[in-house]
Amino acid sequence: MLRNHFETEHNLFRDAFRAFLDKEVVPHQEEWEEAGVVDRSVWRKAGEMGFLLPWAEEEYGGAGLKDFRYEQIMCEELAAINEPGFMIPLHSALCGPYIAEYGNAEQKARWLPGIIRGESILAVAMTEPSAGSDLAGMRTTAVDKGDHYVLNGSKVFISNGLLSDLVIVAAKTDPSNKHAMGLFVVERGMDGFERGRNLKKLGMKSQDTAELFFNNVKVPKENLLGDAKGGFFYLMNMLAQERLTNACGAVAGAEAALNATIDYVKERKAFDRPVAHFQNTRFKLAEMRTQIDVAQVFTDRCVMDHNQKKLTPEVAAEAKLFTTELLCKVVDEGVQLHGGWGYMWEYPICRMYANARIQRIFAGTSEIMKEIISRGMKL
Ligand SMILES: Cc1cc2nc3c(=O)[nH]c(=O)nc-3n(C[C@H](O)[C@H](O)[C@H](O)COP(=O)(O)OP(=O)(O)OC[C@H]3O[C@@H](n4cnc5c(N)ncnc54)[C@H](O)[C@@H]3O)c2cc1C
Repeated sequence: MLRNHFETEHNLFRDAFRAFLDKEVVPHQEEWEEAGVVDRSVWRKAGEMGFLLPWAEEEYGGAGLKDFRYEQIMCEELAAINEPGFMIPLHSALCGPYIAEYGNAEQKARWLPGIIRGESILAVAMTEPSAGSDLAGMRTTAVDKGDHYVLNGSKVFISNGLLSDLVIVAAKTDPSNKHAMGLFVVERGMDGFERGRNLKKLGMKSQDTAELFFNNVKVPKENLLGDAKGGFFYLMNMLAQERLTNACGAVAGAEAALNATIDYVKERKAFDRPVAHFQNTRFKLAEMRTQIDVAQVFTDRCVMDHNQKKLTPEVAAEAKLFTTELLCKVVDEGVQLHGGWGYMWEYPICRMYANARIQRIFAGTSEIMKEIISRGMKL
C-alpha cells in the first residue's frame, strides 16, 4: 500500500541511512552477533553522519529536525536489515530525550554534544531483578547527602549495558512514598558502579544486555535530571514515545519477514510445485499482507499525531500492542512456511523469529498495554 506521509527530504534521509547501514553495519552483523555486542566505532560513524539525535538543537551539534518521521525511518531500516543490537532508537528516541527534556542548560551543554557525536553511548536502567512491570516496586535507592546522592541497588536486562557511558538510573528517593524516584545520570568509571555479564538471550544476539550494580555510588547533585521525586512521572511521560518506536520497528520487521517468506515459497518446491501455489500459503500471505497494511496506516497516523503532540499514552499502547503481536504472528507463520529451514539460524526468518519475541515484553508487556488501554476506557 502506498504510504503518503513522507516528503522528498524524508526519502533522501532514508536513502542516506540505508547506504550507511549497507556500508557500516551489514558487513559486520555476523561478527557482532558472535561477539554479543556491536563495535563501539559504529556509534561514532553514525554520529559523524548526523544520525544520532537529529532532532537536537544545532547549538549542541544536532540538526534541529523535530519530526518523528526521521526516527521512524531509522527504526524501519534497522528492522529491514534485522539488526537488533545497534539500538539507535534507544539512544536517540528514548534516552537522549530524557536529557533534552529534563536536563538543565548546564547538563545539556555537558552531555548532548558527546551523545550526538556517538562518543557517549546511552542506556536507561529501570528494571530490577524483582521489579519490571511494577516500576514502583523497585528497590534501588538514592540518599541525599547534601552535595551528592548515594546510590545502592541493582538493575537487570539493561540494553547497551556494557557499552554505555552514561546510564540514566531510576532510584527511590523517599521511603515514605513509593512513587518518589529520581533519574540519575551515572557515568562510566564512577566508584561503586559495576557491570555484570553480557546476558545470554533467545535473540538480539548482537545486543549487550547486562546487569548493573550500584554499591555506594556517589552521584553529584549536578547529575540529577529534573526533580528528585519526579522520575516516575518522567518515565511514564517518555514511555509513549518509546512504544511508538517499538511500533515503527515492529511493522517494518513484519514487512521484512513477509518479504523473506514470499521469496522462499516462490523458490521452494513440494509435490512438484512451488509452495507459493498451495492455497494455504497464498491465504496465509494474503492475511499477513492485509494486517501489515492496516498496522502501517495506524502507525503512520500515530507518528503524525506525535509530531503534533497529540499522541496519547493509550493510543501509543494500542500501537505497541497491535504491531508487536502482529510481528510475532508473522514471524511464526513465516517459519512455518519455511518448514525445517525456517528453524535454521542461517535463514533470516529464523533470526527474525528469535529477535521478535522480546517486542511483546520490553517497554511494557502486552498485558500492561492492555491495562493502559482499558484504564483509558474507564472500566
Ligand atoms: C532483551 C531485553 C532488553 C531490555 N532492555 C531494558 C532496558 O534497556 N532498560 C530497562 O529498564 N529494562 C529493560 N528490559 C526489561 C523489560 O522492560 C522488562 O522485562 C519488562 O518490562 C517486563 O518486566 P519483568 O521482566 O519483570 O516481568 P514481570 O513484570 O515479572 O511480568 C511477568 C508476567 O506478569 C505479567 N504481569 C505483570 N503485571 C501484570 C498486571 N498488572 N496485569 C497482568 N499481567 C501482569 C506480565 O505481562 C508478564 O507476562 C529489557 C528486557 C529484555 C528481556
